[in-house]
Amino acid sequence: MPQELEPLSPEQLLGALDARGWETLRKRLQQSRFRRSFHLGAEERAYLRHQGLARVVQEAQGFVLQRLAPARPPRDGKQTPYRGHPVFVAQHATATCCRKCLGRWHAIAAGAALTTEQQHYVVAVLAWWLAESVGQSIEALWPGRQRQLF
Ligand SMILES: [Zn+2]
Repeated sequence: MPQELEPLSPEQLLGALDARGWETLRKRLQQSRFRRSFHLGAEERAYLRHQGLARVVQEAQGFVLQRLAPARPPRDGKQTPYRGHPVFVAQHATATCCRKCLGRWHAIAAGAALTTEQQHYVVAVLAWWLAESVGQSIEALWPGRQRQLF
């Protein structure tokens, strides 16, 4: 099992979902009472603060790869707990929790493995939500590079 995935570059992440794309999606999600009801709890917030945004987004890459990317993910529809990790909360908040939700909200059809680009998109959605939930800029993912890029 690949635990240490190469972090997404700004080009990969923002290429998959830029600020404008996130803004559009964020507004759609806000229209759902269910989706907007998800917020980080004290424990998930503490974990995120302790690990840092970059590390948690890297973990998101692993979850996406293992739990969403297969054509038929194990326990699909029930694979994402509601609590216990900031990424899980982010997945429910952004409708990236299972293949059915990916299909309904993100037009990613179930039944086929996610492409690399689709995986990057899902990770980008999660990264935007997580950054916003702790009041950080997405640029916090790439300390030291922000001056050249943003
Ligand atoms: Zn779902």
